[in-house]
Amino acid sequence: MGKVSLLRLDSGGGLAPGNKYFKLIGNLAEAKRNGVNRLVSFGGAWSNHLHALAAVGAEQGLATVGIIRGDEDAADTAMIADARAWGMQIVRVSRTEYRRRLEPAYLADVQQRFAPCMVVPEGGSNRAGVRGCAAIADLVRTHSPAARHILLPVGTGTTLAGLAAGLDSTYEVTGIAALKGAVDLEHRVEQALAAVAANTVAPWRILHEDHCGGFARTSAELRAFMLEFEAVQGIPLEPVYTGKLLYAIYRRLRSGQWRTDIPLLAIHTGGLQGRRGYPWLEG
Ligand SMILES: *Cc1c(COP(=O)(O)O)cnc(C)c1O
Repeated sequence: MGKVSLLRLDSGGGLAPGNKYFKLIGNLAEAKRNGVNRLVSFGGAWSNHLHALAAVGAEQGLATVGIIRGDEDAADTAMIADARAWGMQIVRVSRTEYRRRLEPAYLADVQQRFAPCMVVPEGGSNRAGVRGCAAIADLVRTHSPAARHILLPVGTGTTLAGLAAGLDSTYEVTGIAALKGAVDLEHRVEQALAAVAANTVAPWRILHEDHCGGFARTSAELRAFMLEFEAVQGIPLEPVYTGKLLYAIYRRLRSGQWRTDIPLLAIHTGGLQGRRGYPWLEG
C-alpha cells in the first residue's frame, strides 16, 4: 500500500546506530574542542541515548557516566549491561533526584562531581545535538534524491529540528509524537531551530494522535501491526518510536486520509536495543 521507502539509520556502522548517534557526534566534537574527555548524561533504564553514549564513548576513547533514574538496587537491564561492558560508569539515583536534572544548581553539582567533564542533557537534546542531526538531511538527499515528504518519530523534537534545518522549503517534514499530550513540542522545536539559526528550514508539523496510549505504551493494534510488518518486510522495529511511526503511516494510507500515490520517505531512527525490554517481540 502506498509508496513508502525507509531510510535506515538503524543499520549503519557503529555499536549503537540510530538518531542518538547523530545527536552525540556534535556533542563529542564540542567536548574534544574543549579538551574534555568525560561525558555525563541522564536517562532511564532502557535509554537509547545512554546506550549510544556508552557506545560512542567506547569507540572514541572517551569516558562516560550514565545517571540512571530509578531504584538503587534494581537489576541491570540489557541496556545497562551493554553500557557497563562498554565502560560507562553507572550511577543510579532516586526518582526525586532525577527530577532535578534540569536545575542549574543540580547540574553544577554533577559537573563538579565528575570534573573535568561535559554534561549532556537527557536525550542529547541541546544545540550540538540539533546540529549533528543536520547530517541526517545529507543522508536523505543521497539516499532518495526525489523524496520530498519525510516522516520521522518525535520524542524531544531535536532530531526533527536538525533535519528540518538541514533541508529546504521544497521538503515537508512530518513528525509522529511518541508521547501523549506533548503540547509544548512545537515550541521546543521552534526554540531548537532558533538556537541553530538555520538559513532555510523545511516546513514541518507534528501529529499528536499516534502515541498508542502514551510514551513506551503499546496497544494491541500496534503490537499486531509490528509483528506483521516485521514478518512481511523483514525489518525490525521497536515499539517506542519506529513502530508508532510505521503504524501511523499505515493507518493513514489505509483509511484514505493520505494519498497513496505520493512517495513517502520514513526515517527508521534505530533504537533496536530497546526491543529486549518487550518479551512479545523477541519470540
Ligand atoms: C530518541 C529517539 C527518537 C526521538 O528523537 P528526538 O530527537 O528526541 O525527537 C526517535 N527514535 C528513536 C529510535 C529514538 O531513540
